[in-house]
Amino acid sequence: MDLERFQGCLVGLAVGDSLGMPAEGLSQEEVARLFGRIVDLKDGWLPAGYTTDDTAQALILAESLVGRGYLDADDVARRLLEWYSSCPPDIGTHTRRVLSLMEAGMSWQEATAEVERRYQPLTAGNGSLMRCAPVAMRYANDLAQLLEASHLSSQITHPHPLACYSCAFFNCVLSRVLRGYDKFSAFSFAMEVMAHAPYELLERVEGVPSKSREELSPTGFVLDTLECALWAWWNFNDWAEAIIALVNMGGDTDTNAAVAGALLGAQYGLGSIPEKWRFQVKEVPRCLELAERLLALARGDS
Ligand SMILES: [Mg+2]
Repeated sequence: MDLERFQGCLVGLAVGDSLGMPAEGLSQEEVARLFGRIVDLKDGWLPAGYTTDDTAQALILAESLVGRGYLDADDVARRLLEWYSSCPPDIGTHTRRVLSLMEAGMSWQEATAEVERRYQPLTAGNGSLMRCAPVAMRYANDLAQLLEASHLSSQITHPHPLACYSCAFFNCVLSRVLRGYDKFSAFSFAMEVMAHAPYELLERVEGVPSKSREELSPTGFVLDTLECALWAWWNFNDWAEAIIALVNMGGDTDTNAAVAGALLGAQYGLGSIPEKWRFQVKEVPRCLELAERLLALARGDS
C-alpha cells in the first residue's frame, strides 16, 4: 500500500465530484447544448473547483474514521447531522429526509427505518455509495472489517440491501486496487467474496466488462452508479479521459464521477489526476492529509 494510491483515491473523489458538478441532473443532450463538451472544471450551480455533498460526506466519514480509529456509526451520524445543520448548498433527497428526522430528535436507526417505511423501494439511491471510499482505505488490510464497516456506513442513511451491498462490492474492489492489484484480480476477487450479494447486483456487475457506453444509465439508482463507476475504471487507462466520458453522459454526473474518480485515482495514483485540477479543487489539501492518516491506520492492521 502506498500513499500515492491512497491520496489518488480521495483526491480523485473530490476532483471527479467537482468536474461533474455543473452537469448534475442534466441529460446528455442538455450537457452538449449548454457546455459543448465538458473537458475542464466549470462554473455551475457552484463556482468552478467547488465540490458537492459527495465530497462533504466522504470527508466527514474519513474524519470520523481518523478521529475514532474505527467506523463508529453514531459518530458519523452525529457529524452528518452537524453538517446538515450548517445548511450545506446541496444534499440528496433521501439523506435530507433521514437527517431532518434526526434533527427532530430521532436516532439514526429510527430515522432511517422511518424513511424506509415511507419511501421504499425508492430508497436504493447512490447516497451512501458516493461517500464510502474512506472505509475501503481504513480497512484495506482487513477484509472482514471492510465488509462489515461498508454495510454499516451505508445503513446510517441507506439501509436498503442494494445500497449496502453496492458499498461492500465497490469497497472490496477498491481495497484490492489500493493494495496494488491489477483490474482483473481486483474484480474477480470481489465477485468471489461477494457471491452471496443480491442477484440483481451480481448480474449487473458481471456484465460490466462487456457493456458499451450506450448501455449505461447514469441515474441516481445505486446499481446504475456502481455500474458506471466500474465501467469507467475497466475501460479507461487514463483518469481524466474516464471522468470526462462519464461527465458528458449527463445524469447524476457529480456522483458518478466521484465514485469512479476514487477508484481510478487509486488505480493510477495521485499523479494521474491533472495537476491544474488538483490545485483548483478546494478540498484537495484536506483529502491529502486525511488519506495519509487513513493509510497509517490501515498499515496498523497488518
Ligand atoms: Mg452531489
